Amino acid sequence: MVSRVQLSPGLVRLTLGGEGARQFQDNGLTDKYVKLLFTDPSSGQEAPRGVEHWRAALSAGHPVVRRTYTVRAYDAARAELTIDFVVHGDAGIAAPWAAHASPGEVVAAVGPGGGYAPRPDAVWHLLAGDLTALPAIAAALEALPGEARGLVHLEIHDLAEKIALPAPPGVEVRWLVADPQDVGALAGAVDSGPWESRDIQVFAHGERESIKAVRRVLRQREVPRDAISISGYWARGRTEDAFQAEKREPIGKIDD
Ligand SMILES: Cc1cc2nc3c(=O)[nH]c(=O)nc-3n(C[C@H](O)[C@H](O)[C@H](O)COP(=O)(O)OP(=O)(O)OC[C@H]3O[C@@H](n4cnc5c(N)ncnc54)[C@H](O)[C@@H]3O)c2cc1C
Repeated sequence: MVSRVQLSPGLVRLTLGGEGARQFQDNGLTDKYVKLLFTDPSSGQEAPRGVEHWRAALSAGHPVVRRTYTVRAYDAARAELTIDFVVHGDAGIAAPWAAHASPGEVVAAVGPGGGYAPRPDAVWHLLAGDLTALPAIAAALEALPGEARGLVHLEIHDLAEKIALPAPPGVEVRWLVADPQDVGALAGAVDSGPWESRDIQVFAHGERESIKAVRRVLRQREVPRDAISISGYWARGRTEDAFQAEKREPIGKIDD
């Protein structure tokens, strides 16, 4: 890790560099993500240091915990990846690590994956999410052509979490300050906001129950499935391990 910047009280930006970052293969998607690898804290084992040590440790069955993070930006010339972490408290592994990480620390990452980039010729873009989706939404806004039109709904829990979010003039950014327990807040904003029905492209990601509610609105609005990128990025009360495992069960499915 080469630098850290506190973007807001709840969001910290870490820039990763070094040998591993030089090997990163950009897939060109605005929601590209990596899996950060941490040593399972309950194992009592030390984290490997450096790419080769991680490779050897993984093939030897090292107790690893994976956490998924959007690559907010990749600078190929400098071989640096930028990741914005929601620091959500003491629970968990990745967020508490990011909250206290300092330059020089080593973290392992594998990837990238991803599935979305805004279509330059879409008539209207709808982007909705919480702070975990902010990095992907910000990257999408940067990738849009200057004449793009659209609407962004960003759910936050405190006005202090608002950060500068440059967007083309035809794309409105709305910040929604909502109670964390109100799983219908984002969907309500999407439903009552301005709407364009011709050739829209949707990106909606964030807390699972909140995103399920957004999915219901999109279904009512008859947005074609292939125009939608939608998923839960996390679930309240679940670690990522539990959350990912539940994707195979009814509770974990966004399309209920
Ligand atoms: C494709 C993808 C991209 C993502 N990109 C980002 C990103 O760029 N930045 C980012 O911050 N997150 C991102 N996430 C979400 C992140 O992976 C989860 O928030 C993850 O659970 C964090 O791990 P942890 O070790 O901090 O907490 P965990 O050990 O997974 O969970 C511990 C506890 O914290 C709660 N918790 C987890 N995340 C949050 C949160 N955001 N707010 C409040 N409580 C929470 C859980 O419900 C659980 O109770 C992304 C997820 C996916 C699937």
